[in-house]
Amino acid sequence: MAIGQTQLMTCRPDLMARLAQDASYDIAIVGGGATGLGVALDAAARGFSVVLVESDDFAKGTSSRSTKLVHGGVRYLAQGNISLVREALHERTTLLNNAPHLAQPLPFIMPSYHWWETPFYGVGLKLYDALAGKAGLGKTEFLSRSETLAQLPMALPEGLKGGVKYWDGQFNDARLAIALARTAALHGALLVNYCKAGDLLYSEGKISGLLCHDVLTGQPYRINARCVVNAAGVWVDELRQKDSVSGADAQRAGTQAIVAPSQGVHLVVDREFLDSNVGLMVPKTADGRVLFAVPWLGKVILGTTDTPRSDLAREPLPFKEEIEFILSESARYLRRAPQRADVKSVWVGLRPLVKPQKEDGESTQGLSREHTVLVSRSGLVTVTGGKWTTYRAMAEDVLAHCVDRRLIDRRPSGITVKLKLRRRGRSTRSVNRRAFIRMAMKNRSSWACQVGEPRCATG
Ligand SMILES: Cc1cc2nc3c(=O)[nH]c(=O)nc-3n(C[C@H](O)[C@H](O)[C@H](O)COP(=O)(O)OP(=O)(O)OC[C@H]3O[C@@H](n4cnc5c(N)ncnc54)[C@H](O)[C@@H]3O)c2cc1C
Repeated sequence: MAIGQTQLMTCRPDLMARLAQDASYDIAIVGGGATGLGVALDAAARGFSVVLVESDDFAKGTSSRSTKLVHGGVRYLAQGNISLVREALHERTTLLNNAPHLAQPLPFIMPSYHWWETPFYGVGLKLYDALAGKAGLGKTEFLSRSETLAQLPMALPEGLKGGVKYWDGQFNDARLAIALARTAALHGALLVNYCKAGDLLYSEGKISGLLCHDVLTGQPYRINARCVVNAAGVWVDELRQKDSVSGADAQRAGTQAIVAPSQGVHLVVDREFLDSNVGLMVPKTADGRVLFAVPWLGKVILGTTDTPRSDLAREPLPFKEEIEFILSESARYLRRAPQRADVKSVWVGLRPLVKPQKEDGESTQGLSREHTVLVSRSGLVTVTGGKWTTYRAMAEDVLAHCVDRRLIDRRPSGITVKLKLRRRGRSTRSVNRRAFIRMAMKNRSSWACQVGEPRCATG
């Protein structure tokens, strides 16, 4: 695949000057997380003209706050959602192939403390292997007690019967987002961060573009586009509401919100609490969820939770109970129970869970438990839900909806299956590093990285 540009345009005044040009794009995308960036890359790789605006930094929303697993979803398997698991397992391998510098296989052990757990979960995980087929990363193995302790020395030894070892993947979510942005830009897409989409533009009741503004200067910009994709994560309903009062849907009695956000908290503790390069998976916590202890950059991530949260905070904080829950569940499986004072850092993300929609004007063919694509009467294409692992397949689905609604023309799909994601270029290395350090210093508090007692939400 030929790449349109060899040099990345990174200078902001140049980017803003390009945005100000009186151009007409095939696709304008709102949101620079996994979903929007995935759509930008796929569309640009197909040769469409693409612009993407992100109100904050790329991946500042949910996409830098995940558990960083590229996985089929053992949990969905338990729910019997076979087709979803199969798709995610194949996407897992595609991602590992296309970004080997950012995503690698990782073994997990599920320790068993009841005699039935090893055969019960082991059979499920064998099915996981079978669904992966050739895309499998390694065989599921049944481990004895001593084998489990040899590989997971900090697993609680009292009552331990054995374990099941299986394979999934781990990736660097924030860096993958940047790699997607870079690769899309090298294919000709214009991606601008700190640029917020405000209103939609219409021509004869159909969307013809959007208005946005530079968050740093307040300067407004007008973007003309044949197709607008709303990939704003848990915030998609803001634009949908605007469309419902301005566009062809204006006669309808308001648009229902489709997102029901759910908060997930992660705690970072010292590596000694796990002391292993193998992740620990708890298949069923007290509230019926899956909990992970995963080695990560010399530390260990513990998480996560699933707490409904309706305020759509840009910087959600953990609830005290969520921290206590993760610590107490971890203590049931770890030899040394982490305490609040052991928590080095916390991050909190909002899952865009999708409520079922009635067929009252919006096409709902794409509606699924995982991700949802809705196209309004005026042509606003909204995509939300899903997970990082399946961002590529989601992007294909979004573009298929755009083609079906004749918002863009049909072009060959599947280009991104073998499209390698770009590593950092040598020429921009020092600039990026300096910019990263500046950004890290600026975002120190907002990333909720603190030593000692975690800051909590009060609500
Ligand atoms: C706790 C937790 C753990 C998870 N763990 C995993 C995991 O291990 N593996 C996995 O595969 N998936 C995981 N996920 C799911 C995955 O992280 C999300 O599905 C994915 O990141 C969602 O990406 P997104 O682009 O849709 O949303 P976001 O990343 O939130 O992106 C939306 C973007 O839109 C921007 N935006 C909003 N409004 C505007 C506007 N008006 N103008 C311009 N920009 C705007 C926001 O700033 C934001 O950056 C996890 C999710 C959570 C919450």
